[in-house]
Amino acid sequence: MQLLDGKAISAQIKSEIKLEVENWVSTGGKKPHLAAILVGQDGASETYVASKIRSCEEIGFTSTLLRFGAETTEAELLAAVDSLNKNPDVDGFIVQLPLPKHISENTVMEAVDPSKDVDGFHPINVGRMCKGLPAYISATPFGILEMLIRAGIETAGKNCVVIGRSQIVGLPMSILMQRNEYPGNCTVTITHSKTKNLKEICQTADILIVALGRPEFVTADYIKEGAVVIDVGITRVEDATKKSGFAIKGDVNFADVAPKSSFITPVPGGVGLMTICGLLTNTLKAARKEIYK
Ligand code: NAP
Repeated sequence: MQLLDGKAISAQIKSEIKLEVENWVSTGGKKPHLAAILVGQDGASETYVASKIRSCEEIGFTSTLLRFGAETTEAELLAAVDSLNKNPDVDGFIVQLPLPKHISENTVMEAVDPSKDVDGFHPINVGRMCKGLPAYISATPFGILEMLIRAGIETAGKNCVVIGRSQIVGLPMSILMQRNEYPGNCTVTITHSKTKNLKEICQTADILIVALGRPEFVTADYIKEGAVVIDVGITRVEDATKKSGFAIKGDVNFADVAPKSSFITPVPGGVGLMTICGLLTNTLKAARKEIYK
């Protein structure tokens, strides 16, 4: 079994982006500028956004954080999105999800200018990705592809099973893994909560991508000997032995599954860290106008 070490791979990618930013700026390019909108005081969202802003500082991006109270109206948020769309200094921006229940996430996502949609959630970017056109690929799928590439994992002709069909992970992941390019060319099965015989389907997987949000759901009996196992899950579970009062658990029972797998991602220290790299890469592309001229 080999560990797909998100900490090491993401550090490597960040240092590569940092170098590219230095080169870009030294040849007259503007420092890439990422803005983030945070609504409310959700603990996990605060942590994710803080980590994104810290990463921007590390690699030489400009960053701006716009905070809004939980009572902010949809109209107020849309006005903020419009202002970032029109701000020529901002190359890309994200609206941290989840949003309070009274605000439609779809409406807000669709209001973001696709050329600044570095989270890759706008229907235009999703559609372009499906058609194989240049697009911002959303951060988590991007991070998973990059892990497969950097570990030199062969994908052509493999059976790939994805657990979960969410807009941000399962669905884009399944589309990307069947593309006629590397990483891709897999025979993909996408599964969800209504899937029958989930365990038997997973047992056919050469590559198993797990994103359902149920801690330690996948056990060794789901796994074909030698499978590549990518655990996207991140759930906080109460743990009195931790200073924070909680532990982070993946969707895969790591201790049980690892001995049967050829490659596996740990949680924490796996896909989560790679996600930020996707966002930073997209922002650099936005600053260089690589996708939208
Ligand atoms: P989500 O929107 O809640 O989607 C979960 C998916 O799993 C749904 O498609 C659901 O099916 C399916 N599902 C639920 N229970 C199932 C079961 N028993 N058997 C088969 N499928 C089942 O979740 P998400 O946003 O994709 O996130 C999934 C996990 O990844 C969460 O733990 C989240 O925190 C984590 N995550 C991590 C990162 C990262 O950077 N590492 C990024 C995003 C999310 P239905 O469609 O039928 O409901």
